Amino acid sequence: MDTKALKVLLIVDNLTDANWISEILNKHNQRLCLKYVQQTEEAVEILFQEYFDAILLDLSFRDSQEASLNLIKQTAPQLPIIVVTDINDLNMAVRLLRQGVQDYLLKSELEGEILIHSIHHAIDRQRTKFGTRQQALIKKMLDKIRSSLDLENVLKNTVKEIQQFLHTDEALIYLCEPQPSAKKVISQTAIDLPSLDSILSRATSVSAVEDTGKLASVFPVVADQIRSYIILPIWLNQSTDAVDENWISLVRQTATHIPQREPWGILVAYNISETRKWQQYEIDFLQQLLQEVTIAIDQSQLYRQLQIANKKLHQLAISDGLTGIANRRHFDLILNQEWYRLAREKKPLSLILCDIDYFKAYNDSYGHQYGDRCLQEIARILQQSIKRPADLAARYGGEEFALILPNTDTSGALSIAQNTMQRLANKQLPNNKSEVSKYITLSIGIATIIPHSRKLANTIITAADELLYRAKKAGRDRIAVNNWEICC
Ligand code: GH3
Ligand code: MG
Ligand code: MG
Repeated sequence: MDTKALKVLLIVDNLTDANWISEILNKHNQRLCLKYVQQTEEAVEILFQEYFDAILLDLSFRDSQEASLNLIKQTAPQLPIIVVTDINDLNMAVRLLRQGVQDYLLKSELEGEILIHSIHHAIDRQRTKFGTRQQALIKKMLDKIRSSLDLENVLKNTVKEIQQFLHTDEALIYLCEPQPSAKKVISQTAIDLPSLDSILSRATSVSAVEDTGKLASVFPVVADQIRSYIILPIWLNQSTDAVDENWISLVRQTATHIPQREPWGILVAYNISETRKWQQYEIDFLQQLLQEVTIAIDQSQLYRQLQIANKKLHQLAISDGLTGIANRRHFDLILNQEWYRLAREKKPLSLILCDIDYFKAYNDSYGHQYGDRCLQEIARILQQSIKRPADLAARYGGEEFALILPNTDTSGALSIAQNTMQRLANKQLPNNKSEVSKYITLSIGIATIIPHSRKLANTIITAADELLYRAKKAGRDRIAVNNWEICC
């Protein structure tokens, strides 16, 4: 049995009964501290201010019993209630027990030993019951919080659940970034309360303030906006939790000590319109919940890192190592996709194939390194010449490039090809081995087809390749389009 003195609140309306109960209790147990109030309202007041282990409620009048009981239960849902009464009514006893009362004792049969026994039993039973209920609630809240792996959603769900649990006007999580300017607030509503800074600067330990009016001199700006608030720091791992405990005790010992490090985030819940009494069980519950939330935060951060790593990996798998634009594998995939999509939509697909003129000679003359740089430059120009999200620039092979242009007719593709040639001409990349120009030039073939699902995507490659060959044959540094027309 617990060796700590139990604190019991006795709510009884007549003094004689109070003295009598006190006497029979004291006779049997010296380690029991009894406090006595006459009115339910008084009990509510004292329950907010003091810690108790159990409540002895004298229900001698049938009229007021329900209201009194409900008020007490609402105020201290975690405390066991033992009813002592003169009313020998089995129906009433069953009803009250169903409503959560732990025991129903008749005054006529009341003895010290029975009462002590009942109090201890009630405390044990209520602790188990309340603990189980809290765990179930935490699990339910966590299920909602964890419904997304995205950090922002985890935090949004957290503030939503906490706001509902506490019935506050607002709950928010303040993320403490390394730079104060980068601080971010996750909230249900769009709020702009820069004045919160003054509260948050003290948020390395739990604080629950029921009436900011009393603290007006400490938080002058906040006082006229927020009536009551509760603050809990969020630390992300075990080691920081340990440090937090040290800080809290240090802060208690020396009020001047200011912790050096900020928590990862801070949970703030507040009421604007009215004062709010914060219950210890609510604070305990929030601390327990936040511990679980930190696991969800860790998980979502890991998931985010994994997503970034996967994205990078995917990017590497689909891009060409030298030029950074799409590689041949990705080109094949996208061309295939677009081919069948546009076949369904019966819309045109254009493919531009370009080949650098006299590039072998260029390499021989300037060296491979310069050749590589030239390829990179041309890839950049091609990438810049496409504008729509569905367009794709790819390195088709060696010194050949391709542009996939969905929903684009011949004239649209031609204008992109001409634009590309113009940009390249503007760069004036010298090629003293070219027989058609002093600079690097391209030969281009443009094929435009409305795809057909019974034909293969290769059809358009063959067509563009043939046109490219035509452009080469016709003298290089030019464009060949569908109708064999050659444009210089
Ligand atoms: P044409 O005008 O008929 O296109 O002649 P060409 O010399 O450009 O064509 P050819 O197919 O004979 O030569 C292509 C050259 O492209 C051969 C190779 O040296 C060069 N090349 C292919 N891939 C790379 C690369 O990754 N880096 C470098 N520097 N050169 C490459
Ligand atoms: Mg070639
Ligand atoms: Mg070439």
